[in-house]
Amino acid sequence: MAWMSKEVAEAGISNLVIIATVDPILRYARQKQNDIIAFIRELVEQESPSDDGASVNRCVEVLIERSRGMARIRTFPGGNFGKHLRLEFDLPEHKLGRKKDGQILALGHSDTVWPVGTLRSMPFRQARGRLWGPGVFDMKAGLAFFVFAMRALRDLDVPVSRKVVLQVNADEEVGSPSSRALTEEIAKRSAAVLVLEPSADLDGKLKTARKGVGDYTVTVRGRAAHAGLDFASGASAIVEMARQIERIAGFTRLDRGITVSPGVISGGSRSNVVAAECRAEIDVRVPRASDGKYLARKFASLRPFDKHCVIEVSGGLNRPPMERSAGVRKLLRLAQPLAHDVGVELNETSAGGGSDGNFTAALGVPTLDGLGAVGEGAHASHESILVKRIADRTALVAKLVASL
Ligand SMILES: [Zn+2]
Repeated sequence: MAWMSKEVAEAGISNLVIIATVDPILRYARQKQNDIIAFIRELVEQESPSDDGASVNRCVEVLIERSRGMARIRTFPGGNFGKHLRLEFDLPEHKLGRKKDGQILALGHSDTVWPVGTLRSMPFRQARGRLWGPGVFDMKAGLAFFVFAMRALRDLDVPVSRKVVLQVNADEEVGSPSSRALTEEIAKRSAAVLVLEPSADLDGKLKTARKGVGDYTVTVRGRAAHAGLDFASGASAIVEMARQIERIAGFTRLDRGITVSPGVISGGSRSNVVAAECRAEIDVRVPRASDGKYLARKFASLRPFDKHCVIEVSGGLNRPPMERSAGVRKLLRLAQPLAHDVGVELNETSAGGGSDGNFTAALGVPTLDGLGAVGEGAHASHESILVKRIADRTALVAKLVASL
């Protein structure tokens, strides 16, 4: 046809060229997709709730077995939790004897929020284009992707300039009390941190900012009394708390992204006793470190309405916010064309939930979070990942490591 100009013909040719030059790492990841799925299955079927160290350790053993021969393996005791794992990968060197220069830290966690036995009602399964199961999205798939990404670099002999360490914490879902110091210590020695947590939305957005997360416990002590015989001599901790809760909820500043959410309240002993004690647990989220100070001042300023009651406040931020720094933006700009090479658009968003990336970003180490699976339903019964995004996410992580 006359209108089928040179341009159209060229477009046809360039499409052919694109098909012929599928990124070699992407091709590798596609070829290995069934192996990656089998690995994810092994990890998911070894249930690993944070509070069950023995179960978490069995999950860690699966990771160790799968990395044997390709990484130096170290574990660190996790106290009441499972053990934390560090894998230092043995990766191809640049020719001409260029020495490894600096270090890249990949971060993940082996624990999940799901108790042992969840598999009975939420078995691992592949259906409707997804993998389903407890912890599959948050974040066992991300761990499998990383190990296979390192295998790709080794098998394809892709040189890597830096030392590459994967640290897998056993207590992330409960705020990383035991692993935090380890994470911070190694992050300080790293040029960049890649966090294998789930991505955001069903198009796999990275998380370039995360709110800081904390919790406060407010305890009111009143004075117990018989609700009938001696009502006037009592001071109800419950009534006092009810008034305080209004005030505390008012610390929320939606325009600034600050949320203060009383999530648990408990108090009193019997209906015919004026309550002597009441406790509230309050979740707080802040986009900026300075907002954490604002909340600390607000909580410290609480005074009882009823002078017969006493208020005690404890708590604070346990994860500082991950702010979208220049270093974070630079990492994102590096990742975007690499994603393009493997045929996907890579966008970014901010997240309300925290991760261990909050600690590393707060130290000023460029941190890119949400590099794990594409899916939805973290901590929910529809937790699942998209099978069609397994290969490109694995390839993206490998390419990032090779480019840093
Ligand atoms: Zn997670």
